[in-house]
Parts: sequence; structure tokens; C-alpha cells
Amino acid sequence: MRNLTTDVLVVGGGPAGLSAAAEAAAAGASVIVAESDLHLGGQLVKQSHKFFGSKEEYAGTRGFEIAKVLKDEIAGSGAKVETLLNTTVTGYYPDENVVTAMIGEEEYLRITPKKIIMASGAQERLIPFPNNDLPGVYGAGAVQTLMNVYGVVPGKKVIMIGAGNIGLIVSYQLMQAGVEVAAILEAMPRVGGYWVHAAKIRRLGVPILLRHSIKRALGDRVITGAEIYELDEKFNQAGETETVRCDTICLAVGLTPSSEILWQGGCKMKYVPNLCGHVPFRDKTMRTSNEKIWVAGDVSGIEEASAAMIEGRIAGISAAKSLGRDVKSDSFDKFWKRLKDLRAGEVGEKIRAGVSEVLVDGWE
Ligand SMILES: Cc1cc2nc3c(=O)[nH]c(=O)nc-3n(C[C@H](O)[C@H](O)[C@H](O)COP(=O)(O)OP(=O)(O)OC[C@H]3O[C@@H](n4cnc5c(N)ncnc54)[C@H](O)[C@@H]3O)c2cc1C
Repeated sequence: MRNLTTDVLVVGGGPAGLSAAAEAAAAGASVIVAESDLHLGGQLVKQSHKFFGSKEEYAGTRGFEIAKVLKDEIAGSGAKVETLLNTTVTGYYPDENVVTAMIGEEEYLRITPKKIIMASGAQERLIPFPNNDLPGVYGAGAVQTLMNVYGVVPGKKVIMIGAGNIGLIVSYQLMQAGVEVAAILEAMPRVGGYWVHAAKIRRLGVPILLRHSIKRALGDRVITGAEIYELDEKFNQAGETETVRCDTICLAVGLTPSSEILWQGGCKMKYVPNLCGHVPFRDKTMRTSNEKIWVAGDVSGIEEASAAMIEGRIAGISAAKSLGRDVKSDSFDKFWKRLKDLRAGEVGEKIRAGVSEVLVDGWE
């Protein structure tokens, strides 16, 4: 067991955590970033597509290249930031203010931080259907990691469930890797992702079957196909069951915040459907009801890397300020304005509504 102390502990080395660490270190705080993966960057490292969003948040740049920019920024902070890879935060004990973590499966850490920034991201949702535990049923994020980080394709013929951005982007990447996408099934009457992605997929001849879902996966030891069916307005079966042959079923049915440590920290939480799960109440500086804990990124509500990076910067500045560190007086306002711009208009409506439910000091 090793004991560590730090001004700021950042849990998660994705875009939110790295941005938070950069700001806290720039203000002079000592920072530990604990990342359970073998590399920094979170979801970004597997994203080979160019980002949408604002220029300040790297629109037009590929996800893995954004991860590199953030890692370089952290490296530029010198000894102020210590990054612990292969390190999973396993618990938080508020009475003693102790965070426990494991490096690999061998070494235990006991970390005493003055402040904590939770940037643990999200986990993939699954849906129940018979045989969903057979080899060959994957989350879309897992497929993306397999292909784009490890260079392995999951199979030869895939059915994708879910036509949100992740389902559309991963379908396209599967085709780029030479995998046939038999169909994309979407339970809702419309495509949830950007039309530009859907149009690209359709031009390549992949049917996007709206109001369709999976009834069961077929196979004994591995996937050999899927039974699919059409849904009516009440999500009951409308037509005949069809069989589609495939060796992989890929679920892109959404993400939910990884909020376990926030519960342990006694943070006041609320289930907010627009933010895709239980999320903490927070103020504009991303501080939760536990005054030692800040949040940033998908753990505070499923959104996008652009928002995660801005929230991370706000949390980093605020945590450093609470330690009496010198932060530029206009920095918070600058990032808050960028967050508001990002969430403006019709596209940001759902997020604005969700955040309003848990933002204690109001949206304006
Ligand atoms: C296919 C796909 C396409 C996308 N395209 C875009 C896009 O075009 N534009 C855009 O803006 N966004 C996009 N996003 C969304 C974006 O990737 C996420 O919103 C963003 O990565 C969230 O950042 P984060 O830092 O909150 O979480 P993550 O990137 O998920 O990082 C969280 C990190 O925390 C680590 N972690 C979790 N729990 C622990 C623990 N207990 N201990 C230690 N470490 C832990 C994880 O290993 C991970 O590295 C896309 C997402 C996907 C899946």
C-alpha cells in the first residue's frame, strides 16, 4: 500500500480530466491524474473521424489528434502533474477524505487529495434480448476500440442497433475496415444522429430500418444471426419476424454516466433523462454538493467532447481557486460563455433543459 497526497486528484484522463488537470496545474496546484486505461485520452484515442463543434474545441481535427494536443499540454506542466496509468479509482471514503485506487491488480494506493475532480466519463448501455450474452454481441464503443486502437475487426457481417451518431459513425468505420453492415435498426421513427452521417451510410447501400428492433440473437456458441421485427407506435411488434444472418451484433443504444464515486461522496444526485442517467447537482463552477468534489464531462451528463473539455477547464480553474491559487479573473467567464455558445440553439435544447434541472445557480 502506497500513500499519496496532492492538491487536486483528477479521476479519469479523458478530454474532461486532461483539460481540468491542465488548468489546475497552470494555476500552480499539484495534480494527480488517475486513469484506469493504459493511455490518456479517454474516448478520443479511438476516434478517427474529424470533430464537429467549435474552432476552440478543435472542430475539423481528428479525435486521437485532439488527445495528443491535450497530452502535450499536460506534459508541458512538468512536475506539477503526475499521471498514473492502469490505475483504477475504486472508492472514496469522505469521513477520512481518502480515495482508494489500484495500479493493475497488484498495488494499492491510498490517496489523500485536497480536492477531487471527477471526470470518469460514461459506460455503454445494453438492451435485454435472448442470447445477448453470446460471443459476438458488443457495445459499439468496444467495437471502435477493437478496430481503431488494436486493429482487430469484430467479425465479417454486423447488425448495428441504434442510429444515433455512435451507431452511424461506427457503422461507417466498420465498412472502412472491410466489414459488411447488414442493416442499422432504430426503434424510433427517425434517425437520432446527424443527417450527414446517415446520408453517407445510405449512399453506401446500408438500410437504416426505422421503427425496428432485435427480438433475439441466434446461435449456440457464437452468433449466427438475429431475428428482427418492426415496431408500432407503442413499441409492440407490428409485422412478421425476419431473420438476418450475421456474426456480430453491435449495440449503440446510448451511454450512461459512470457516477459510482459521486454516490460514495454523498453528492446530491438526480435522474435526468436528458442527461442520460443519474447526475450530480452542481453550480456554474462544476462544484457538487460535496464541497470537495467537482465534476466535468460525460459523468455530469452525456454530451460531447467539446463540452467535456470546457467543463474540465472550468472545474480545474475553480478547484485551484478554492485552494487559494491565482487564477485569471476573466477565465471562468470566458469558458462559461463558450459552454453557453456550444449549447445554444435547437441542437443544445435537450442539454440546456437537462442541465437546468441540476444547476443550482440557474442557467443565465
Ligand atoms: C463513437 C463516438 C463518436 C463521438 N464523436 C464526437 C464528436 O464528433 N464530437 C464530440 O465533441 N464528441 C464526440 N463523442 C463524445 C465524446 O467522445 C465524449 O463526450 C467525451 O469523450 C467525454 O469526455 P470525458 O472526459 O467526460 O469521458 P471519457 O472520454 O470517457 O474519459 C473518461 C476516462 O475516465 C477513465 N475512468 C473511468 N472510471 C475510472 C476510474 N474509476 N478510475 C480511473 N479512471 C477511470 C476512463 O478509462 C476514461 O479514459 C463521440 C463519442 C463516441 C463514443
